Amino acid sequence: MKFDDWITDDVKNVLLVEPNFPIPNKSRNHSNFLPIGLLKIASYLRNKSINVKLIRFDEKNNTDLSQMTFDLPEEEEFIPDLICVTSIFTYWSKYVKNAVFYYKNKYKDVPILVGGIYASLMPEHCKNYTKCDDIILGYIEGAEDIIPAYDLVDVDYQILHTSRGCIRKCGFCGTYIIEPEWNCKKSIKNEIIKKKLIFYDNNLLANKYIENILSELIELKNNKKITYVESQSGFDGRILRKNPKLAKMLKSAGFKNPKIAWDYGIKQAPKIKEQIDILIDAGFDAKEISIFMIYNYEPCYEEMEEKRVKCAEWGVQITDCRYRPLNSTYDNYSPHKTNGQTGKDYYIHTKEGWTDKKIRKFRRNIRRHNICMRHEVDYHSSILERKQISKSLSQKYRKMNYEEVKEYLPDAWTPFKFHDSSEEDYFKYKPKS
Ligand code: SF4
Repeated sequence: MKFDDWITDDVKNVLLVEPNFPIPNKSRNHSNFLPIGLLKIASYLRNKSINVKLIRFDEKNNTDLSQMTFDLPEEEEFIPDLICVTSIFTYWSKYVKNAVFYYKNKYKDVPILVGGIYASLMPEHCKNYTKCDDIILGYIEGAEDIIPAYDLVDVDYQILHTSRGCIRKCGFCGTYIIEPEWNCKKSIKNEIIKKKLIFYDNNLLANKYIENILSELIELKNNKKITYVESQSGFDGRILRKNPKLAKMLKSAGFKNPKIAWDYGIKQAPKIKEQIDILIDAGFDAKEISIFMIYNYEPCYEEMEEKRVKCAEWGVQITDCRYRPLNSTYDNYSPHKTNGQTGKDYYIHTKEGWTDKKIRKFRRNIRRHNICMRHEVDYHSSILERKQISKSLSQKYRKMNYEEVKEYLPDAWTPFKFHDSSEEDYFKYKPKS
């Protein structure tokens, strides 16, 4: 059934639920995790004079909803006629299942719908596994141009889409399933209600009206109506190379932290450099530019390290993303398990020679790389970062470059060098006498 088919005349109260996803509390209101779909549904339903209530479960208690008793007072006053649960990554499916289980027990006869990314990518699995009543695929058209109900959350930014779908079909990306139609808006100026904007487009620059949209933003910025603009996804480098003027327009519109993707091998380096240069020529700082890289996929660790070193030479940061297959329904990777995990815990792309050790090593390399790029220094040391030495020594070492300091700090790590996956990262500091 379509979403609207569930909105009958009997529906007066709708409960909107964000499951207890393992999002650190400090990041819950980060633009990457805001349940924007639920906020749009909230506005959509309010326009139909339907009451809504948003429940965001708290990760702090790591609530296992499947173990919860069903006599909580929280929704006593609000008896829903319909419940909408959102989903994100397929590998967080168990949290969606728990939320459905909890409300199925609490309100036995109330239908539960699940929407969002997991529901759209794996509708059959989602229906059978969570035992919800229906799946809502993709986005709700009638809710697309509505201003989301930001009063339900505490954020100082707004999320916008100028387009849905994508003109491309990259092998690791599920956009073509979630949003199969490519739709573009010509104008968004009437949707703007905040000074800080985050664009959620999959491929912002591919919008055929992008110049019109950027002109609108430039005017708003010049009139001090907006102060900060960011695109959550990377800019399409092929479009930037074809039309470098767009980079200047992005800068004039106030875009910060531009990202471009480097999805394939080291051979792409000259083209990536050209894209970076276009952004730098437009006025962006190298260190605020970030390169999206998928690891634990193709290429192998060694080639990814070569790519990382190139990024260090160009002075740019890296936004890394650990690959999981689109239909992966679990991911128990823990960065704290320094003794390692196996393919039973999370997906390891062994086909390209990736191992648990290489995955952890590459992640650590990226972290250290980004610290060096942000601070424009040529080495990172955990000993210095964790303040394991006296202030005076620390000040002395911070004035040295990598070649000088490596004599004194055994963990000094430079981003300009290839780091083998077998290299040790953890050192106990013993001061040199
Ligand atoms: S360009 Fe981006 S959004 Fe489009 S298919 Fe590729 S990865 Fe997905």
